[in-house]
Amino acid sequence: MDNNSRTELDQLGEFGLIERLAAGVQKFQENTVKGIGDDAAVIDIGDQYLLMSTDMLIEGIHFDLSYTPLRHLGYKAIAVNASDIAAMNGIPQQVTVSVALSNRFSIEAIEELYEGINLACESYNIDLVGGDTTSSLSGLMISISIIGRVDKNKVVYRSNAQVNDIICVSGDLGGAFMGLQLLQREKSVYLANPEMQPELEGKDYIIQRQLKPEARLDVIHELNDLKVIPTSMIDISDGLASEILHICKSSNKGAVIFEDKLPIDGMAFNTALEFNLDPVTVTLNGGEDYELLFTIKPEDFEKIKNQPDIATIGYITEKSAGANIVLKSGNSATLKAQGWKHF
Ligand code: ADP
Ligand code: MG
Repeated sequence: MDNNSRTELDQLGEFGLIERLAAGVQKFQENTVKGIGDDAAVIDIGDQYLLMSTDMLIEGIHFDLSYTPLRHLGYKAIAVNASDIAAMNGIPQQVTVSVALSNRFSIEAIEELYEGINLACESYNIDLVGGDTTSSLSGLMISISIIGRVDKNKVVYRSNAQVNDIICVSGDLGGAFMGLQLLQREKSVYLANPEMQPELEGKDYIIQRQLKPEARLDVIHELNDLKVIPTSMIDISDGLASEILHICKSSNKGAVIFEDKLPIDGMAFNTALEFNLDPVTVTLNGGEDYELLFTIKPEDFEKIKNQPDIATIGYITEKSAGANIVLKSGNSATLKAQGWKHF
């Protein structure tokens, strides 16, 4: 390659960049079972697998402190990390928390952040065992690393979906994205006229979905009780369409999903209409709901079909069929990832 050539970040995108970096990474340890490419790394520690993942939250990119209470931010930072362990069918156990702070933050403000962190650790049964504290010139950054465990025969990757497996989603979708739209609208109204009171009444659920998401460890326990081991799984951070495409790519398969099976939240649906947004687009590309997307063997359908918080939305196909959505009109459309663009 020409040493003077320069590739802009947005030419490759986040996933393209990760792929390119991963291509130059070698493996030296025999007990590294899975490195880059799933929700967490998998390390053989004897009788179980250790799961390891990390996520960074940056002020102005991932959160806006003008409408995000620090307590909620702390809670969310832990939840999104725990969600990646859940996505491997694992249970999180320990975290380290690193923060970079500017002098804009008081001790009390940082304590508020840690109240949320401690609350999430309590609700997910995770120990905070260390971290790092440093200064920043450009706002708040939170970097969390998490480890968890999974029995070797229960680990679930993105890469093992098989043709005819049923595609499932936990909970409902679209809420976190519409909550964000609402908070951003109220912020701009407030900036234009500070006398205006925010109009958030009756929208608690979707605002909570944005500000205080939960890792679906309850679903991991539920699947375990039902004796269902998904064939593939990923958590929905970037949006359903993007995550389906990740599973398809990793598993070398295609997929069909059905518009009328998508678990869009009712409040998100109505709020999307209020904002002149297409509710289906919101459901497919919203993101940040931190629900679990997984596939199961057809014979496991009986075990999950009456679970109220699990929706079956489609099935896995041969790769050559691509990834498609069957619309209510009967027409099909190609699934496209719009995801979040951080660059
Ligand atoms: P998730 O959304 O589940 O957190 P990402 O899309 O952030 O996953 O990352 C996908 C994969 O790429 C993961 O295995 C992650 O560990 C890896 N990854 C992301 N960024 C880097 C990086 N800068 N260097 C090495 N691996 C990375
Ligand atoms: Mg993930």
